Amino acid sequence: MVSEALPFGQTSVTAVELRSHVDAAAATEALVAADVDHARERFDAVLETVPELLEWLSVHGREYPWRYTTDPWRVFATEILLQRTRGDAVAEIYNPFFSAFPTPNAVREADEADLRDLVRSLGFVNHRVRTLREAADLCVVENEGQVPTDLEALQRPWRVGPYTARACLLFAFQEPLALVDANTARITERVFGYPLPEQPHKSEAVYRFLDALVPDEPALARAFNLALLDLGALRCTNSNPDCSACPIQPSCLYGSVGEGLGVD
Ligand code: SF4
Repeated sequence: MVSEALPFGQTSVTAVELRSHVDAAAATEALVAADVDHARERFDAVLETVPELLEWLSVHGREYPWRYTTDPWRVFATEILLQRTRGDAVAEIYNPFFSAFPTPNAVREADEADLRDLVRSLGFVNHRVRTLREAADLCVVENEGQVPTDLEALQRPWRVGPYTARACLLFAFQEPLALVDANTARITERVFGYPLPEQPHKSEAVYRFLDALVPDEPALARAFNLALLDLGALRCTNSNPDCSACPIQPSCLYGSVGEGLGVD
């Protein structure tokens, strides 16, 4: 059970075990379709370093409070609070928010002023309140008070896109799906030499590749996605990647170029 392995899921695995949980053929095919050089060799090399990546997560991963729950409403609402917002800011209001609004119905019945006061520190207050209200309506009016388990339905509230919907399915309902945001897209580009499209989070090709790379075992899928998110935030940053302290540096095209370790 994933819940027994919170906050990060399964962080200990061998490369051989991992290989039985990914769709290597589909992933390689997606790399070839994207014109990635030496697709199979690159995929194999990266897969060998994923166990180190998960081990790194177990030591350096960020232990946010929402990583200790699989409660669907907490997961869904938290992902809305995290939109365009730092995790540390959301962590500060996490307990007061869910004390006040432990269910979707509590948000539906809340005074506008109370809801606004609780999310004010995060900014984008109008956006946030509207999305939370619509998410609560979705659960209560359309789904008997429960968070939907359908990718399309989860994207019905205003400004809820594939990232938030997929994160909900992954973290609450243990569906082994890939998350595509700026961090995971940047790592994909650097590690594989993957030529990113203009909007990676809307690209079917990017999802096809990363969904094939995400392990089909839920606890591993959780760990793999969290590892990419945290690696992007803590090591593989946009402007200053810290390759010397990165667990997948030996297999990363970008990180190994300077040391002549790239696949020829
Ligand atoms: S080696 Fe460098 S570029 Fe590659 S994933 Fe790690 S931090 Fe990013």
